Amino acid sequence: MNGTRTSESPLRPGDLEEAAARLSAEADRLRSELARAREAESALRADCDLDAADTGAKAMTLNELRTRAESDEALLERTVAALDRLRGGSFGICTRCGRPQGRERAMALPHAELCVLCAEAREAAGPDG
Ligand SMILES: [Zn+2]
Repeated sequence: MNGTRTSESPLRPGDLEEAAARLSAEADRLRSELARAREAESALRADCDLDAADTGAKAMTLNELRTRAESDEALLERTVAALDRLRGGSFGICTRCGRPQGRERAMALPHAELCVLCAEAREAAGPDG
């Protein structure tokens, strides 16, 4: 509470440990979420006693499960990649321009691979940019 607040301050040693702990917890959460989704999906598939209306509802639930699982998987990939960067000593460095992301961003979004400028540039370029 000393009032100093800069967005570009460098990471401190304790920050890496905090980010590692948060990323590991996030990876664990995503893994169990994915395991649960897979279980729910096979339970839905195994359940054959459904009439036509139930089958429609089932298809929707399967779609929802898969959509969620896909975004969980993508986030898990980024989380694991961030943990790799942490171990490799490049955590908080933009993977595109190589500049520091800034402590505030790195700690708020530890799985982010890009700095604000590159993230904005990629968003402007569209999903394939
Ligand atoms: Zn960048």
